[in-house]
Amino acid sequence: MAKKNLTVKKVLKIFTNFYQKNNVKLQINRYKSKKELIASGEADCSNSLIIINIIPNIDPKHLAGTLMHEYFHIYCYRNNIYKEYHRLHEYWLKGTLTRKKLNDGIWTGLRAERHVDKLAEQFLPLIIPNIKYSALYSKQYCIKKYNKHYIGHIRETRDNNFPLENKNCYI
Ligand SMILES: [Zn+2]
Repeated sequence: MAKKNLTVKKVLKIFTNFYQKNNVKLQINRYKSKKELIASGEADCSNSLIIINIIPNIDPKHLAGTLMHEYFHIYCYRNNIYKEYHRLHEYWLKGTLTRKKLNDGIWTGLRAERHVDKLAEQFLPLIIPNIKYSALYSKQYCIKKYNKHYIGHIRETRDNNFPLENKNCYI
């Protein structure tokens, strides 16, 4: 499939099929606002659910990259890769989240994200030929977003001893 013919509709069709085959549920939220420049995604690993937020005029290539990236969080969860990071939400749900587990999640998180990027980079062209995956966690804004919103949040939780909010996203 030539890159220039790639549309949002085609990307969603390809991934709906791929997710179905791999027992992953997909939820799509469409937003009218263009405040966020890119597509964003969340993986709820223990529920095999991926939530994708789409804005108008989204770049189909970027959307495909996000869908691939989030899938590999579920893959890692299922295969115990960067286990502590991928089980934070599950621990929280079960009430077994400890300070140590939070620390382990924090310290391995960025490495886990980069590993997910590496897997997505290798695998995406097998699903959509001639497409190039753009690694999210080599980008400063993604690292910033990750540090501020995700790690900042779990650090706060740890330091104040209040329960982790219902936050299940790995960006
Ligand atoms: Zn991620």
